Parts: sequence; structure tokens; C-alpha cells
Amino acid sequence: MHTLRFKKDRAIKISEELFPDELCERCGRCCILHAYKTENGVELIYCEHLDPETKLCKVYKDRFKYGCLTVMEGILAGVFPKDCPYVRNLKNYEEPWFYRLLRDKED
Ligand code: SF4
Ligand code: SF4
Repeated sequence: MHTLRFKKDRAIKISEELFPDELCERCGRCCILHAYKTENGVELIYCEHLDPETKLCKVYKDRFKYGCLTVMEGILAGVFPKDCPYVRNLKNYEEPWFYRLLRDKED
């Protein structure tokens, strides 16, 4: 059994090449860290660095120092809603369970 190792700096650069920032629609949904089912629906806990008004990251340039994932890592970890531009054309991508409930609530 081998542990896969890679250089984070290089992974960031490659991820940026593959998945340019401009594709992001700035909905802020991939900054949800936890979701819980409650009697009143789904309760969401967002990353402390997300500005809830603008839906923008307050530490964007330095986000990797705070443990944020690259888009490439986010895809592999399955953090994006399936309608996010970075994954909407990936047929093998599976979104986390709570995004469907959020969409149903909006309808
Ligand atoms: S879910 Fe996709 S479109 Fe929305 S903020 Fe995240 S990367 Fe951007
Ligand atoms: S660090 Fe910024 S981009 Fe990363 S999850 Fe938090 S708010 Fe979102």
C-alpha cells in the first residue's frame, strides 16, 4: 500500500489551469462545511471566511493557508452542487445529499 504524495503548490497551479476562476458563479454553496437535518429543514454551517452578504471569500488570495481545497480536490472530495460549472458536465460526479434538499426548498 502506497500513500499518494503531491506538492500542494503544484496541485494549486494545475487546478487553476484546469478550472479557471472565471467559471465560478459565486453562489457560495461550496463553502458549506456542514449540513444537518432538523425538524425545521436543513441547517447549514458555512465556512467562517465566507462573507454572507456578498457570498465571496474574505481570504480568497490566502485561502489555501486556511485549509481550503483546490477545485480539483473539491471535485474528488465531492463538495460541489451538481449544477456548479466545475462539475455540471462530469457524468460520474455525485453531489453531497443536502444540495438536492436546498434546491427543493427553493422550488
Ligand atoms: S458552487 Fe461552484 S459556482 Fe458556486 S461558489 Fe462554489 S465553485 Fe462557484
Ligand atoms: S476559505 Fe474561502 S473559499 Fe474556502 S471554503 Fe472558506 S470561504 Fe469558501
